[in-house]
Amino acid sequence: MVANIDNIASTFMTFNEAYFGGVLPWPLFGVLHSYRTCGVFEYRARTWDGDLVDPIIKVTDYYDMDEEVFNGILCHEMIHYYLMYLHFKDRSMHGKWFKKKVKQLNEKYGLNIPTFIDITDLKRRKGAPLLGYWLRHFYIMP
Ligand SMILES: [Zn+2]
Repeated sequence: MVANIDNIASTFMTFNEAYFGGVLPWPLFGVLHSYRTCGVFEYRARTWDGDLVDPIIKVTDYYDMDEEVFNGILCHEMIHYYLMYLHFKDRSMHGKWFKKKVKQLNEKYGLNIPTFIDITDLKRRKGAPLLGYWLRHFYIMP
């Protein structure tokens, strides 16, 4: 499957209920076109008491993924959202709290949430530009 706003949003809704107790407020969704970044969770700012402003989850449409990979990426980003939303503070991106939550969900629901994705295992979406496109147009600056 190729990520788009609709399948990201509908899977988010399912996972929020199934794995996160429905606590996550509806965020914004976006599609990346990156071959390197498979998914990302971001927010624009925090309010004075630490609430997230404009949280957004994005998944790349560069790959045509197995559903399991797509689900893993989305769940991974939702854990970032969950921990930020509930003000858990990790020292690094994938620190103690992140690992704990991954382990908990994997064990409880038999999931396979990755910390990292090996992009060499993924299949490029039909029509997505080859990597040489970026190397020629963006990487080598005149
Ligand atoms: Zn991450």
